[in-house]
Amino acid sequence: MRSHRPTPELPQHLEQLYGRFAFDRSFADDPISSIRPLATDARRGEVAGILGATLAIGNTTAIRGAIGRVAALAGGDVGWLVDPVHATERRARLLAFRHRWIRGDQLDHLFRVLTDYYAGHRSLEEAFLEGSSAGGFAGGLDRLSSVLRGTGRSRNLGRAPAGYRALFPSPLERSGSPCKRLTLFVRWMVRGRYPDLGYWTKVPTGELRVPLDQHVYWIAYHLGLTARRTRSWDAVEEVSEALRRIDPIDPVRYDFVLCHTGISGDCPKERDLAICGPCSVRPDCLLWRGRKVAA
Ligand code: SF4
Repeated sequence: MRSHRPTPELPQHLEQLYGRFAFDRSFADDPISSIRPLATDARRGEVAGILGATLAIGNTTAIRGAIGRVAALAGGDVGWLVDPVHATERRARLLAFRHRWIRGDQLDHLFRVLTDYYAGHRSLEEAFLEGSSAGGFAGGLDRLSSVLRGTGRSRNLGRAPAGYRALFPSPLERSGSPCKRLTLFVRWMVRGRYPDLGYWTKVPTGELRVPLDQHVYWIAYHLGLTARRTRSWDAVEEVSEALRRIDPIDPVRYDFVLCHTGISGDCPKERDLAICGPCSVRPDCLLWRGRKVAA
């Protein structure tokens, strides 16, 4: 039976993977490369981050294109999107926007929600901290989800468009969603190390959870960081805890590398010696454990 425990050598091998990784190549491909130029201050960093995380569905080229199109509609300044003076014009400009199943009227509602929230709060970090003080990281995400859904604010915000609430799932709901997009948003806000933005200063990096997309999940499973067969919130907690044992201060440090190892094609997700040969974590990968490779 295949073991789902990480090998004792995994920390060193992950470090090698990190050290050899072509960050510049993958940075250009990642949504964060479209978000960074828009994040000219903390408020704009949050707005660009929420926009990027909300649109983070599908391939990275399409995501970057969608972020760019919304930024262009705002004249290159995402602060414009949450300025109440421009609410009517924003709605008109976003009307024809589409990215996968996300529609312009849903994005317009998101910016209405943010405009309403920023009228009384400095940062979404306040909402996250309010939730996490009682319910840990999942509680923080739950509170964030509630704020972004506009829960309890319908008198100010009006009725949300169809499908809007589903854009912001909570890990505390019965579906057990991995909440990849909100977890990614919090990573961008909290980590100050490359390539993240680090505008939030009160959430410790050691508390972060890994944004478990399909690439990260595949490799995490095959490195024995989780034995769960579905990409759920429980799997997020398990993978994050395993990474925290490797780096208690910055457990999601390897997330970017694991994700882009999959996106870039560096990992074929099958035994292919030509590609797997130089992979730093091959001795830890369930596809290769116990197999001798001819020199
Ligand atoms: S050994 Fe191959 S399949 Fe396993 S993680 Fe590395 S590249 Fe992917």
